[in-house]
Amino acid sequence: MKQKQPEYKEKGVRYMMCKCGEYISVGDNATGVICSNEVNRNMMIMFPELHEEKPKRKSTGRPTGWHFMKEFVDKDGNVFHKGKEQPKLKGTLSSTKVKPKKKTKRRSKEQILIDRHNKKKAVLKKARKEKTKVINERTETTYTTR
Ligand SMILES: [Zn+2]
Repeated sequence: MKQKQPEYKEKGVRYMMCKCGEYISVGDNATGVICSNEVNRNMMIMFPELHEEKPKRKSTGRPTGWHFMKEFVDKDGNVFHKGKEQPKLKGTLSSTKVKPKKKTKRRSKEQILIDRHNKKKAVLKKARKEKTKVINERTETTYTTR
């Protein structure tokens, strides 16, 4: 049988005690209450995978697309032809050198803004230069027509 949770009324509002001892305001028809803490806790019990850290992808040490390579020899000497293991060839070939991937430096948000600003500045500078050029030409022409 479901145990009735303790409750009380204050200024016309009904309060019911949660399992954890917290009183929560409830409607008149409420038969039980759970606070948000409890809801979270239940969620955690029901869906533990939501709260678990995602397992890190294990690095195989193989380059991306290694199984498309005509021949790939891993660091243990396993030979693969287009991704298919060739057990007979194991250990007969030196492992394929994997070029370390060039790390592309990711621009930070700040750097992006700075870059954008510099670009703008460069454009403005160029525009200004052209303007002065036009002015110079004009002054020149004015000068020569005189
Ligand atoms: Zn609670």
